[in-house]
Amino acid sequence: MAIDPNFEETREREGQERGVDVWGPTDPPEQLGIHGTHVAVDLDICVGDGACLEDCPVDVFEWIDTPDHPESEQKVTPADEDQCIDCMLCVDVCPVDAIDVDPGRENRI
Ligand code: SF4
Repeated sequence: MAIDPNFEETREREGQERGVDVWGPTDPPEQLGIHGTHVAVDLDICVGDGACLEDCPVDVFEWIDTPDHPESEQKVTPADEDQCIDCMLCVDVCPVDAIDVDPGRENRI
């Protein structure tokens, strides 16, 4: 299952964590939702592979600990999504299609 690219229509924004929007539903620690809006990571799909964090040319991503999540105990959050230059490298390298990048999403909300 890949991240839903239309999540801003199908999910509710529940708040923010580390300055990043969180889109529900959430039920931690097992269900963490989608984090980010311009650069969005579905934390319930993310397996903590880290390829996005290694490849991003402008260091958008940061590690976060996610103990007791069924997929992985470490994941990435798009902490500096404002820096994104829309190169789409992270989307291409993610092995589980957990990332969607859309610079126009914020304007459609
Ligand atoms: S699209 Fe490019 S610049 Fe933006 S977060 Fe992904 S890798 Fe980084």
